[in-house]
Amino acid sequence: MTLDQVFKGNSISEVLELLNQYKEDAKIIAGGTDIIIGLRNGKITPKVLIDISKIDELRQIQVEENKIIIGSATTYTQIVENELFDTNLYGFKKACRLVGSPQIRNKGTIGGNIANASPAADSIPPLIALGAELNISSLRGNRKLLLEDYFNEKEDNRLRADELLMSIEFEIPKKNQVLGFSKLGLRKALAISRVTLSSLIGIDDDVNIENIRVASGSIGKYPMREREVEEALIGKRFNSEILKIAASSLQSSMDKRLVGRSTYPYKRRAVVTLFEEVYKDNLSYFNEVTL
Ligand SMILES: Cc1cc2nc3c(=O)[nH]c(=O)nc-3n(C[C@H](O)[C@H](O)[C@H](O)COP(=O)(O)OP(=O)(O)OC[C@H]3O[C@@H](n4cnc5c(N)ncnc54)[C@H](O)[C@@H]3O)c2cc1C
Repeated sequence: MTLDQVFKGNSISEVLELLNQYKEDAKIIAGGTDIIIGLRNGKITPKVLIDISKIDELRQIQVEENKIIIGSATTYTQIVENELFDTNLYGFKKACRLVGSPQIRNKGTIGGNIANASPAADSIPPLIALGAELNISSLRGNRKLLLEDYFNEKEDNRLRADELLMSIEFEIPKKNQVLGFSKLGLRKALAISRVTLSSLIGIDDDVNIENIRVASGSIGKYPMREREVEEALIGKRFNSEILKIAASSLQSSMDKRLVGRSTYPYKRRAVVTLFEEVYKDNLSYFNEVTL
């Protein structure tokens, strides 16, 4: 099958009409950094492409009450340059800053990273740790979905052919909460990440861990919550003692999930290093801020 047409989407309603008309024969293109590879090697063969890269509503970062809403066609560069992500959301900025090269960050979008659903997608673990939700639309209506539920064994929550990912939203962390991120990649500049870890940790007045969400990338079939380590750390005093507890519970999760795979010994060790870096990120924020 050859590509018949590329539509330049001028508005969301026009894109939804086109998706409804062409369904499986259509593919959205945002930055093109993933899809062009698929088109070139014949892995996907749509009849039409619908370009959403010039729709302003999909390319903006907004604050509404206590939430940040990021349009799906927002690029990594836009996120890296936005000061909303300078303090306790620095883990998200770090994840975006470590994506590919400057050219990839200028073109690649957050929505493309999620819709492509690679286990190694860098933006996903920090967004899962933040409890992010996806806003998805089609002519049939709108649906909201927790990002962590987008990934499951059956893949039955994924975007349907007529659906557009509109935006990603999450609650702005409170002052006593901070997001950390760490990535171990193969090559420095253009690494497709091998393993990533992110954690949102909140502490109370006695410096005990009041709330925690940890998420990983490339440590399973898809990005996921690491609930065993969350349960092991909740209520513990936030100091270097948690590193030992985290190491043993993360490794116990790896033993259940990865044993027998060629990457098992590497990833079993890597998660410990990743958690140590995430902890250092979290600690340097708590040391600097007056709660
Ligand atoms: C050299 C190189 C290095 C890279 N390095 C990294 C890296 O370090 N970390 C990393 O995570 N990724 C990396 N990537 C992968 C890629 O850049 C990212 O996944 C990027 O975020 C994809 O966004 P895009 O806008 O280019 O997506 P596109 O290629 O435009 O689209 C990707 C897929 O998502 C669909 N899609 C896009 N937007 C929407 C939407 N709003 N609604 C519905 N469907 C949609 C498209 O139809 C397509 O199936 C790299 C890629 C290259 C080529």
